[in-house]
Amino acid sequence: MIRVDAEPRQDLRRMNIDAVNAGVVRMRSQLPDNRLRAHLERCALTYGCPAGKNFFLGRYEAPLPTSRRCNARCLGCISLQTDTEICSSQNRIDFTPTPDEIADVALAHIGRVKQAVVSFGQGCEGDPLLAAEASVSAIRQIRSQTARGTINMNTNGSLPVVMESLFDAGLDSIRVSINSVRPEAYAAYFRPGGYAFSDVLETIALALERKKFVAMNYLHCPGVTDTPQEMAALEAFLRRHPIHMIQWRNLNYDPVRYAAAMQAAAPADPPVGMRRCIGRIRKRFPHLIHGYFNPPKEKWG
Ligand code: SF4
Repeated sequence: MIRVDAEPRQDLRRMNIDAVNAGVVRMRSQLPDNRLRAHLERCALTYGCPAGKNFFLGRYEAPLPTSRRCNARCLGCISLQTDTEICSSQNRIDFTPTPDEIADVALAHIGRVKQAVVSFGQGCEGDPLLAAEASVSAIRQIRSQTARGTINMNTNGSLPVVMESLFDAGLDSIRVSINSVRPEAYAAYFRPGGYAFSDVLETIALALERKKFVAMNYLHCPGVTDTPQEMAALEAFLRRHPIHMIQWRNLNYDPVRYAAAMQAAAPADPPVGMRRCIGRIRKRFPHLIHGYFNPPKEKWG
């Protein structure tokens, strides 16, 4: 086991259910007609989502799910599984929150949490870029009322033009999900609809140009990520795109199916081990932050 982030943000032992329930009651009175607040109750109490619980506990990062749709069909999608015997771990949000609903949830969190982070792009939605109209207005509303807090978006990064409008509105940081920086392996997992890996790279380049904080949500799997071909491609990617952080995300998909799909799409030699893989990236890119969670702007360094 390699621990890449010491922060107890999702340590369930620190999420007393009575405190969560007390937070639910408090938010119900503060945001009685807010459908997003009600959706997050289901996330926290039914799905057991740590991000949902953190909103009601008033700590770290609050989720802002907005999108019913996605333009990818990831093999291991956790919000929608069709024509497979795998079931998704939660259902996708079935409405698009209004800008007011989004802004009110975000401001409720920012208003009471030091170094707060609020994030679009959660496990209970498609990709937030496909609901950007609401998010752009919401971000403008939030920033018209406060400069505090970090507004982040977890995304597949597929639509650079849409991403630009979010940056213009005041989005502070992005986390782009990538299973592999080899286009064939990326396409075999994400099964993109109407975009290509080159669009994702364009989004990352745009974010760096706009001086935004850029994290990679590296969906890793021992046996695939730690192969010489993937490691060489990752180093070339990091040289071309000097992102700020790698979040080593455990891939939530059957490793046997995944390895077979990746080997078919982008054959690779035997793995060298994740510890050696991470060690080499740390050594060759000493500026790069390694972790698991979206840091607040106060910790970007
Ligand atoms: S990008 Fe996210 S929501 Fe879309 S298919 Fe992949 S995991 Fe699911």
